[in-house]
Amino acid sequence: MKIKTPIQSAEFREAAKVFERGGPLAPTCGARTRNGGTCTNPPIKEGKGRCLSHCGPKAANAFRERQKRRFEAGQITAEEWNRAEARRAANRLGDAWKKDPWVPGRTIDLKEHEEAFVGALGGIDVAELAPAVADWLRWKYQRLQIDTRNDVSWMDVRLSKLPARIESAGQRTEATSVKATEDQGMQGLWRPSRGSFDALSRRSLPDQPRAPKPVRQGAVVRAGRPRIRPVCADEQQDLLDLYRDHAAALRPIMKMTTGEAKQWAVLRVLRAYLDEPQNTSAHQRWLALVQATLVPPMRATGTG
Ligand SMILES: [Zn+2]
Repeated sequence: MKIKTPIQSAEFREAAKVFERGGPLAPTCGARTRNGGTCTNPPIKEGKGRCLSHCGPKAANAFRERQKRRFEAGQITAEEWNRAEARRAANRLGDAWKKDPWVPGRTIDLKEHEEAFVGALGGIDVAELAPAVADWLRWKYQRLQIDTRNDVSWMDVRLSKLPARIESAGQRTEATSVKATEDQGMQGLWRPSRGSFDALSRRSLPDQPRAPKPVRQGAVVRAGRPRIRPVCADEQQDLLDLYRDHAAALRPIMKMTTGEAKQWAVLRVLRAYLDEPQNTSAHQRWLALVQATLVPPMRATGTG
């Protein structure tokens, strides 16, 4: 079909949305994930149907080259390019830290919070920590003390997780201390440059406070409704007729029921039951009422 009119074109665009990212027919990576699911990231062009995380190094490099060309051609912003480069560098550093936590480098700058962070460590010298541990700790601080305020989790990090990390990082390795002095620039490893950190975090907004818990809308908690509705003239007549028809049964109940409003309420409960005898809750209410008014409390019947 050829698209001839603007309306057709708009309809086509609307229909094509199902194939766009997030749409029901959008292509997904589909790689098996560690938790047993399938990856739902969008595939990259170079990845033979796989996403950037699952396409392998060759396709990922080709992706970077294309991104670079697009940046140079002005098709993506410098900010987007820098963010992608910072992410790649941080990933490389993370890989290096898996082999040696003493490899110099960092992926986060707490900026004006750094001083408070150092103060919150209670005597631990952050400069003496393995760079991987210090970096992990700064991210934890950012997450638990700046983005959100979770003192309990932060204490857990400080008192239990941090000692374990320090322990497993071990002593400063020979290789890294030599390398660090020889090669101050740490070529090949990403060094933080000012301004790159804002772009690094995927978080665009700090955590919002949680929504309040929903209030159950039961009959019991519904506020503002008077427990006993006033009786209008029509209803009064209706209920009096009902009373007359069932006077024998109602007389003892009414005797036990103090107050006119409550007596009207008793009649309403009976009416609800008689209107719908198969309605279980109406039946239950009526039975409960009869029991409450006619069966004397246990204490009164006790023989002691
Ligand atoms: Zn994937």
